[in-house]
Amino acid sequence: MPNVMEQKVQGFMARVIAKNPGEVEFHQAVHEVVESLIPFVEENPQYKEAKILERMIEPERVILFRVPWINDKGGVELNKGYRIEMNSAIGPYKGGLRFHPTVNLGILKFLAFEQVLKNSLTTLPMGGGKGGSDFDPKGKSDNEVMRFCQSFMTELQRHIGPNTDVPAGDIGVGGREIGYMFGQYKRLRNEFVGVLTGKGLDWGGSLIRPEATGYGTVYFAKEMLATRKQTFEGKIVSVSGSGNVAQFATEKVNDLGGKVVTLSDSQGFIYDPDGIDAEKLAWVMELKNVKRGRIKEYADKFGAQYFEGERPWGIKVDVALPCATQNEINEEEAQLLIDNGCYCVSEGANMPSTAEAAKIYIDSKILYGPGKAANAGGVAVSGLEMSQNSMRLSWSREEVDTKLHSIMVNIHENCVKWGKDDDFINYVDGANIAGFVKVADAMLAQGVV
Ligand code: NDP
Repeated sequence: MPNVMEQKVQGFMARVIAKNPGEVEFHQAVHEVVESLIPFVEENPQYKEAKILERMIEPERVILFRVPWINDKGGVELNKGYRIEMNSAIGPYKGGLRFHPTVNLGILKFLAFEQVLKNSLTTLPMGGGKGGSDFDPKGKSDNEVMRFCQSFMTELQRHIGPNTDVPAGDIGVGGREIGYMFGQYKRLRNEFVGVLTGKGLDWGGSLIRPEATGYGTVYFAKEMLATRKQTFEGKIVSVSGSGNVAQFATEKVNDLGGKVVTLSDSQGFIYDPDGIDAEKLAWVMELKNVKRGRIKEYADKFGAQYFEGERPWGIKVDVALPCATQNEINEEEAQLLIDNGCYCVSEGANMPSTAEAAKIYIDSKILYGPGKAANAGGVAVSGLEMSQNSMRLSWSREEVDTKLHSIMVNIHENCVKWGKDDDFINYVDGANIAGFVKVADAMLAQGVV
């Protein structure tokens, strides 16, 4: 028989599911958040009376559009385009664009909802949004990617702007795609403004933005380890993914004296017990960012093991950094990690652990930093890029990295403040409540809008 609080969560979720049918990732993300927040809202009736939670899960605006483009053979191609403008209570909408064939409304709503709380946690004035397309850049020529990006931006440009909505990169959207979209925005609007973040250094980008999510995830893990008087020195670490976040997480673990032994992509993972050192990582960056090849090639090049169609969570490690995609660690894999001695999981990806996996970490009382806290470094430096664009100046690498580091320390402190329960820090509750309070108070102040 569920207790009163569980009944309230179940009732809330029944309404969410009925109103948003089929959006399973969105249901999962909302469920995780309301489990932390319903008890908090019950104790703080001003939020309940103003229906803040109900309003927060309803996007302020959803934009859906057609993206037609011409392939290299002269044929017409068609994709879907989306932008979810979720919440602007504390600043302009801010959040990445994802180009991946799995993209749909439910996935983008989950990401946009998480983004609202994450952006609030950074303490910078940014609302939350997310967007993208079911376009797959893999296997496309640069010209095809450019024509797609131009068509996508031709519609998106009328909805965004430096004071309205500032998109960035995410899966499948890196420097190349941001460049093509920025060029088209500038051409159509005849203005050079900070409308996208993740720009090139010569045209308004910030130093450390490419590194920020991966570095930030490791900085967050470092803070978690410090609560148990541990450091990265000598730690064995598994990383999943091999894209932007995975690459720079690996670099920072190496800097701090740890050893990364795995990387993956959507086809399999490599295991290199000798560690992926700076030289091997430089090779991976060339493989993934320039040649756009598969991680399997690492095994051939360096004589490491390759596991086709598998994920790296069966490898014995101290720390796991999932940096690929949502729901990439299930219940059995979470248990396997813990049985093999892993005691710290810091999420570079968004919602990489299923609800059941997250429950196992918490019940086992390991150090578990959920994505909305642990990967907030990326959007934090996007916020710093916006500030530099507004002031028309550029900060040095050291300045931005120092600011990133102190933001991650601050997020960690806030999670401890709201999530500490006796001897255990529940970072999920901590991140959800700390992120919520600022947005909720702004919504209260701004009336029923
Ligand atoms: P990239 O596109 O650079 O890399 C994504 C990596 O994940 C690739 O190795 C890709 O493999 C793998 N991957 C993607 N989809 C799947 C899948 N369905 N199954 C298995 N592997 C998959 O993206 P990012 O590194 O930017 O993003 C990774 C994660 O980090 C995402 O969850 C993103 O939302 C999150 N994130 C990113 C931020 C950023 O600043 N970029 C900020 C905060 C969070 P393959 O090449 O085979 O597709």
